Amino acid sequence: MTAPSTPDRIRARLAALQEGDLPVQGGRTLAYVYDAGLAEVDALAREAVAAFSGSNGLDPTAFPSLLAMENDLVAFARELVDGPETMVGTLTSGGTESCLLAVQGARDARPEVSAPSIVVPDTVHAAFPKAGHYFGVRVRVVPTAPDHRADPAAMAAAIDDTTVLVVASAPSYADGVVDPVPAIAAAASARGVRCHVDACIGGWVLPYAARLGRPVPPWTFAVEGVTSISMDLHKYGYAPKGASLLLHRTPALRRPQYFAHAGWPGYTMLNATLQSTRSGGPTAGAWATVQAIGHDGYLSLTERALAATDAIAAGIAALDGLAVVAAPASTLVAAVADGPLDVFTVCDEMAARGWFVQPQLSYGERPPSLHLAVSAATDPVAFLDALAASVAAARASGPVPVDPAVADLLRGLDPASLGDDELDLLLAAGGLAGESGDLALPERMASVNALLDVAPPALREAVLVAFLDRLARPTAPIAAGS
Ligand SMILES: *Cc1c(COP(=O)(O)O)cnc(C)c1O
Repeated sequence: MTAPSTPDRIRARLAALQEGDLPVQGGRTLAYVYDAGLAEVDALAREAVAAFSGSNGLDPTAFPSLLAMENDLVAFARELVDGPETMVGTLTSGGTESCLLAVQGARDARPEVSAPSIVVPDTVHAAFPKAGHYFGVRVRVVPTAPDHRADPAAMAAAIDDTTVLVVASAPSYADGVVDPVPAIAAAASARGVRCHVDACIGGWVLPYAARLGRPVPPWTFAVEGVTSISMDLHKYGYAPKGASLLLHRTPALRRPQYFAHAGWPGYTMLNATLQSTRSGGPTAGAWATVQAIGHDGYLSLTERALAATDAIAAGIAALDGLAVVAAPASTLVAAVADGPLDVFTVCDEMAARGWFVQPQLSYGERPPSLHLAVSAATDPVAFLDALAASVAAARASGPVPVDPAVADLLRGLDPASLGDDELDLLLAAGGLAGESGDLALPERMASVNALLDVAPPALREAVLVAFLDRLARPTAPIAAGS
């Protein structure tokens, strides 16, 4: 960035920058973005974001419009989650913030517990370990059953006097299955403990799936003992990024979430979320999207997304070389190799054909997998054509070999003892070293993923944090006199 530029040059530069990104529309990016395929709704939502991007949700008396839209969104969601009359909610910046607040509120509701903990299945979203890390709450991770669902008996057994929250997913991100919420909520309730259902990715799908007559396991406030639910507007609500809801069964359950501070010379600070200044853009974008789509619109979007998911899951099952991990409960599909096939190479081959599918590394006994979040805009026939071609190409090229000596070396490294020099060497060996600030990803990621896959989780974390750290450096300074 140098001298002040003209609007046209800035627009051109923004467009050029965006060309390097994954497309957010078209239904071919099967992670991170969710496309309804409704161009008019998208345009309307963008207008709303732009119109309210300067408004501040910090003070609802100054910007009553944002409070009104938030209350509308919570009321709309209440119909989806069988919310009782007493149900209240908060609009947050995303699923992670909703989950963080569920943990923070649960912790602060039990001040007498000096070393609080939460009980979660091993498939719980990373937002919960993150909450534990941020808020000093121990995370008791309970292995899931062989069907990838949480094991309610084991979770019940893990609850003790320090437990402030038990979590179930509807569905889990990695496998796309719904945990047995009634048994988990009952076990929590019997011990007087809160139960959060993480429906960040399923909350806008499962209710419509049920209305379409599909079997949906119980997961809403209709289940006794469920105290809070998170559901993301910016996933299958198809809203612009930056919007999620955290819903509580009663105002009393929400109360510890509020932060107030009058002990300074400034104005009395009152916050319902982690953020203080809150852009009105995502609020207005989500509100406009929900108004424009409505229950009927979501019903047909869900019907389309589920039909695509069914077709894709069936296609994968019929494809020699891949198998689905579990029958999809919503719009998520995880697939593993059921023979000698390198799924990381399949990801690269899909990318070469214009499709982004997310690789999931092996974990414990679980092999690496492909993860798909299917949107209403995803064309299953085109997807399966690309997948069949990608599997054939991956089979022809064979797996990316990892030198056994390198694998042994990686398994023996202590991530905590690695200094910057060693991390630089590891990044270079993995093909991830660029000039600082340069995104030095190889054209094909399979070799990187193969190396990460043999590394233990703590080493994966250390290497990828080092990578991210080296990416995030200021660009070249403005030269004097330029
Ligand atoms: C996406 C997701 C989250 C976190 O949401 P972000 O919006 O990415 O912060 C939490 N839980 C589940 C199950 C999710 O799918």
